[in-house]
Amino acid sequence: MKKNKIYIFIVVLFAALFVSCSEDDLNSESVITEAQRVENDFDRWIVKHYVTPYNIDFKYRMEDIESDRDYNLIPADYTKSVQLAKLVEFLCLNVYDEVTGSKEFIRDYFPKMIHLVGSPAYKNNGDMILGTAEGGLKITLYNVNNINVLNVADLNYYYFKTIHHEFAHILHQTRPYPTAFKEISGSEYVKDSWSSAWGSGSAADAAALKAGFITPYASSAVDEDFVELIATYVTNTEATWAARLKTAGTTGAPIINSKFEIVYNYMLDTWNIDLDVLRDTVLDHQERIGELDLDEL
Ligand SMILES: [Zn+2]
Repeated sequence: MKKNKIYIFIVVLFAALFVSCSEDDLNSESVITEAQRVENDFDRWIVKHYVTPYNIDFKYRMEDIESDRDYNLIPADYTKSVQLAKLVEFLCLNVYDEVTGSKEFIRDYFPKMIHLVGSPAYKNNGDMILGTAEGGLKITLYNVNNINVLNVADLNYYYFKTIHHEFAHILHQTRPYPTAFKEISGSEYVKDSWSSAWGSGSAADAAALKAGFITPYASSAVDEDFVELIATYVTNTEATWAARLKTAGTTGAPIINSKFEIVYNYMLDTWNIDLDVLRDTVLDHQERIGELDLDEL
């Protein structure tokens, strides 16, 4: 009798698997996830603060279709997601609003979706992935459950540098930067070996700086170099930037400066954004995180 039950159970299970597989083949949308969704206060907050003003969706529920199936990922905690939604609004969206004078810039160019994942993701070579962007439409932020969202250094390292980085990709893909930028480091880019080419830890940072790259990742490709200059500049104080140039020394600093001059002028001439004003506004908002109520919706 018991055997029969098990047998039936297995048959049902296989039938269920078969049905879900064929559903997968027929329809890439996850029907089950959509059906189970009940709108909560946070969903309504997202509509008010992201969807209506900016036409951006803030996805904190991990849906299979939005995640890379190659990784073992877990969903973001609700509380952390609320905190991060408020921080992204204040430290990023509102910053660009303030600098450009309206919500139009974010509405027109910012990725249409921010997607949170609770766990980190790793590449095959062990590199931790902080964020990914797909075709300028979506930014995925990983490791949401493991960071202290009140630690500005952590926030910048894990999220805000990534967000500025990905956003800058959209800008240069929309309106290209001058070709003169590509000539400065020319054939020096190291592609995928950026994470090993300069050694490890702070020694790697220093070696990359001396070679004229603001970060090791900037040495991977010319577009990455361009956006790393923007993302690093706006998330660091003037003193930190100066310290990097000092480390870069007499060989690296002139290379970084000549690249940054092109970056700065491009942002000003093409987008009417003064990177000094953008940085000051980012830093000002960072200092005012304490004014926010990050938990109350
Ligand atoms: Zn990039």
